[in-house]
Amino acid sequence: MKPILVVGASVGGSTAANTLADAGIPVVMLERDLSWVKPCGGALPPVAFEEFAIPQSLISRKVSKAVIHSPSERKAEIDVVGLEERANDYVAMVCREDLDPYLRQRAVNQGAQLIEGKLVDLSVDADGVTATYTEKNSKVQKTLKAEAVIGADGAYSPTARLLGLPRLPYCIAIQERIRLPGDKMALWEEAAHLYLGEEVSPDLYAWVFPKSDHVAVGCGAGPGKTREMRQLLSNLKDRIASDLEGGETFIEEAHALPIHPRKRMAFERAMLVGDAAGLVAGTSGEGIYWAMKSAARAAETLIETLPDTSLAALRRYEQRWWKEYGTMYRFLQWLQGWGYGNRRQMEVFTDMCRNHHVQQFTFESYMHKQMTPVPWLSQMQMTGDIIAAQVRHYLPTQRAWT
Ligand SMILES: Cc1cc2nc3c(=O)[nH]c(=O)nc-3n(C[C@H](O)[C@H](O)[C@H](O)COP(=O)(O)OP(=O)(O)OC[C@H]3O[C@@H](n4cnc5c(N)ncnc54)[C@H](O)[C@@H]3O)c2cc1C
Repeated sequence: MKPILVVGASVGGSTAANTLADAGIPVVMLERDLSWVKPCGGALPPVAFEEFAIPQSLISRKVSKAVIHSPSERKAEIDVVGLEERANDYVAMVCREDLDPYLRQRAVNQGAQLIEGKLVDLSVDADGVTATYTEKNSKVQKTLKAEAVIGADGAYSPTARLLGLPRLPYCIAIQERIRLPGDKMALWEEAAHLYLGEEVSPDLYAWVFPKSDHVAVGCGAGPGKTREMRQLLSNLKDRIASDLEGGETFIEEAHALPIHPRKRMAFERAMLVGDAAGLVAGTSGEGIYWAMKSAARAAETLIETLPDTSLAALRRYEQRWWKEYGTMYRFLQWLQGWGYGNRRQMEVFTDMCRNHHVQQFTFESYMHKQMTPVPWLSQMQMTGDIIAAQVRHYLPTQRAWT
């Protein structure tokens, strides 16, 4: 059997390759640049460490609180606890320069072949997949035959483009990594901070995520805002200037973040996973877990169906995915539009996050990826609080906020 080709050896690609190699299926990972570090806030739920056997030593810092800052700087302070307190209640902060090489090397140790080269052409026919790539060091163009391809090549996915698919709408997320003097670093150590406000992010949020020896300070903004990104980040840094005093930026980075999932993720001899399939969760912008999960699911589908790589066989991946997670993606996409839609809604969103039930259900589903039904009494209390906040922030006296 020809190998399975995985394009991209980041979190998604390495997970797909590892799963396939573990099942004894020959697999080749093609990565255009092994030294590239994916720009990323690096927030990861505990379930990722359990499900994908990621060692805890890769955690740069654990945080036990999240603080949401409204545009008028009112705060919702939230303990990272689900429906019941568990030992593994935390949000992990990882550095992609640590996580990605670890996952990649694990796949290689499992038997995956790794090639440093850039995919430049792809064709699919009855005989299989033919990929053309430029080897990074030699600059020589080479071809490779495969049974099927998994596109794990990110938001701009060349695999999707070469399969004839349109580019996904995306937002841009920009980030600086800043080393702070000890007293300033101490201010950030305990919590992940999220900032709302049109001047720092018109339709998403800005953040400060603490790592072991620095903070990641960034913001995201939707399509058409690319030119404003530097200004938005600069506004964020102005907003928190006193707490960043004496800091030194050692990395500036930015990348696209898809904002809509693709409906079609499976094709004849091909599947798309992670950002290539647009599988970033709305509202939170969380993509690492979903890239790994979808990659594992795509690989498991192949393990189940090989040697059949027909559209009908591979579509099982897509069907199961949307059956399990369709409602969640739709809800989070709606919530993003509702909660970050304008300045007043951002205030309402912050108030909503002060509700104890909202906090518990949010972290239960974020940390453990378990969609728990909400009891009716909690639903009533949450709805009551949201309506009250909505009324409060839309009363005539609040008009100055428009
Ligand atoms: C600034 C920022 C902050 C973020 N913060 C968070 C966060 O805190 N938590 C979270 O969960 N998610 C976060 N995300 C999202 C997260 O980074 C992505 O969802 C995740 O990395 C997707 O993984 P992936 O494997 O699908 O793609 P990627 O990680 O984008 O990897 C794609 C890989 O494909 C390779 N590639 C591309 N083209 C080719 C080619 N032609 N040939 C060969 N290889 C190729 C690339 O080099 C890369 O290694 C953030 C994103 C950004 C931009």
